[in-house]
Amino acid sequence: MARQRFDALRLVEERKPVNITPPSSKVSDYFGENTFGPSIMKEQLSSDIFNRLQNAIHRGERIDENVADAVATSLKAWAISKGVTHYTHWFQPLTGSTAEKHDAFFELSSDGLAIERFKGSALVRQEPDASSFPSGGLRQTFEARGYTAWDPTSPAFIIESGSGKTLCIPTIFVSYTGESLDNKAPLLKALEQVDKAATSVCQIFDRSIEKVQASLGCEQEFFLIDRALADARPDILLTGRTLFGRTPPKGQQLDDHYFGSIPSRVTRFLQELEIESYKLGIPIKTRHNEVAPSQFEVAPIFEEVNVANDHNVLLMDLMKKVASRHNFRVLFHEKPFQGMNGSGKHNNWSLITDKGRNLLQPSTKAKENLIFITFFINILKAVYDNADLLRASIASASNDFRLGANEAPPAIISAFIGTQLYDILTELEHNGDIKVKKGDNIYMKLGISKIPPILLDNTDRNRTSPFAFTGNKFEFRAVGSNSNNARAMTVLNTAVANQLDLFKKEVDKLIEQDEKKEVAIIDILRSYIPSVKKIIFEGNGYGDEWVKEAKRRGLSNLMDTPRALSVLKKPATSRLFKRMKIMTQAEVDARHEIRLQNYIMKMQIESRVMADLALNHIAPTAIRYQTMLIENVRGLKDIGLEDQTEETMITIQKVAKHLNQVKKLANDMTQERKRINNIENVEEKAIAYCDDVKEKYFEELRWHVDKLETMIDDEMWPLPKYRELLFLR
Ligand code: ADP
Ligand code: MG
Repeated sequence: MARQRFDALRLVEERKPVNITPPSSKVSDYFGENTFGPSIMKEQLSSDIFNRLQNAIHRGERIDENVADAVATSLKAWAISKGVTHYTHWFQPLTGSTAEKHDAFFELSSDGLAIERFKGSALVRQEPDASSFPSGGLRQTFEARGYTAWDPTSPAFIIESGSGKTLCIPTIFVSYTGESLDNKAPLLKALEQVDKAATSVCQIFDRSIEKVQASLGCEQEFFLIDRALADARPDILLTGRTLFGRTPPKGQQLDDHYFGSIPSRVTRFLQELEIESYKLGIPIKTRHNEVAPSQFEVAPIFEEVNVANDHNVLLMDLMKKVASRHNFRVLFHEKPFQGMNGSGKHNNWSLITDKGRNLLQPSTKAKENLIFITFFINILKAVYDNADLLRASIASASNDFRLGANEAPPAIISAFIGTQLYDILTELEHNGDIKVKKGDNIYMKLGISKIPPILLDNTDRNRTSPFAFTGNKFEFRAVGSNSNNARAMTVLNTAVANQLDLFKKEVDKLIEQDEKKEVAIIDILRSYIPSVKKIIFEGNGYGDEWVKEAKRRGLSNLMDTPRALSVLKKPATSRLFKRMKIMTQAEVDARHEIRLQNYIMKMQIESRVMADLALNHIAPTAIRYQTMLIENVRGLKDIGLEDQTEETMITIQKVAKHLNQVKKLANDMTQERKRINNIENVEEKAIAYCDDVKEKYFEELRWHVDKLETMIDDEMWPLPKYRELLFLR
């Protein structure tokens, strides 16, 4: 039984780092070579077509048939010149890990010449065979079929796989009546709205600003585990995390992994990952070890949100492929190992104007600081007003194990801004009605003439906050490592767009009443500060104190996905999405249902795998070990050493006790599942899975199994242990 574990251990011992040769010593020689980006477009398209396409990309103008045909023709020629034989519309359906999406979508047609007939219409629109993608009843309600539509704002790219090269065209996935069936369509709408609202606020200050782009730099955390060891654990294989396993005596306490020297097999993996990412135009920049052993991070240079998110989805797929070439498995699960840090996807986000100014960058110029403080306070107000929706946007079965655990952002949404900015808010709050006389320095009077341009040094950073201001951007850290950023980014940008729009209306009203512009702005901002301060927390977000304090402030602390998602049923939610033209009621409902179903499925699988491991792997091992001990006792008695059997007898009893509990809990949990599976209402069922399966059984069952792990002969234990998974590579 333990054979697989020991075979795997032997394999790991023999592994050699894979040699990597970069295509060139200069990254610029091959950066983006597999994408149909602006420079290659400019080269291949006539200038008229190129300009019209750019207008479509940057101004949202319609793409007519001629442009589509011309782009399709040159896209095809470019792709064929690179050895591509097939094309596919690439999209991000509503559920599932990116791997499911990838497998389902990257189907190759049997006709190797398919690409030869590539027309504008095929570029713009396709009907994928997508009946198996979840739609939360949307397609049944409206129209049986869905189609994918080209997103010209994200460059097409070439994926190489064993079977050849495929041209992938980023698309949205919608039903025939226009309901979005994916993550990208609502995101694009939210980005359009935030552009509109932010531009209109900018124009109060500077009429020349015509566009504001939201930017995203996503730090991706992950674990890298030897493939043979990971594959010897059915729980990692089927659920992405370890359901059992004792924390090793040497864990992350020593903090020696953080920024430690990266082991060579890992270095080679990261090297190849970088090369492959660069070819696809993904600007990976940093890499270092994370806090837990075998945990790592890659972060790209920030880009426009939609492109950055496509790149993150693509990067995750790439990581899985490259890892397997280096005999690793990448774990994107938010909490693969109990007692170790979990993994997140830190969403660094800001707003940048078409003049290149980051609206979240404080400045030495007083006038610019008014713009900064305007956006800063409005964003915090949006976070306060939409905290529950932001919480829901990051909720998933797997992130539940990370959020609120002692080494991860809490499930309470709060923001960290640092003492200097906090003081500025307080000053603003208290300096009352300002009377500005001719010749006054208004900024001085407002107390915003002197915001230091570099606000936070590294010591002032608070890493425990789910939403932190980090000098010139906000960092939404509570996003799960395995999730699609689009959901969090849709909610954040929608909430901010809505807030900026409301703010602009209030300011306009005061200006109409002959209030001075700057005073009007400050008056409105000042009125927001009491609510904004409620969401600000500067202390340790991992501590219990904060939970109590948040309760006093009336902030939500939604600890599990089914309850966090209930905000999707609230009228305020559909009002917001409707007002900002992001999603209809039906689209919100569909998402609610799909995510609950997904939660149920995930918990069901975990519970099944747990029971299977307990009853078919752990229990038989415990029995075999027990029998060995019994024979030992019998033998000792036979040779007259009766008085030497006491300790072993105690162990036999202990093993028996835990063994019985393991069997009982696994069987009871299975019975409970059967009851819950009959519940019709999806939300009730999800809550029952959370409370009556996960909460009631998982920890307890695990405790007994982990106890057995400490008692049973190491040679017999069937599952690779934590120290092997985490320290061998
Ligand atoms: P940290 O100290 O949080 O680890 P890093 O420098 O490693 O910071 O990562 C920061 C991430 O934030 C990078 O992906 C970077 O490109 C991104 N970033 C920097 N400035 C901005 C910005 N204005 N908007 C969005 N993302 C940004
Ligand atoms: Mg960070």
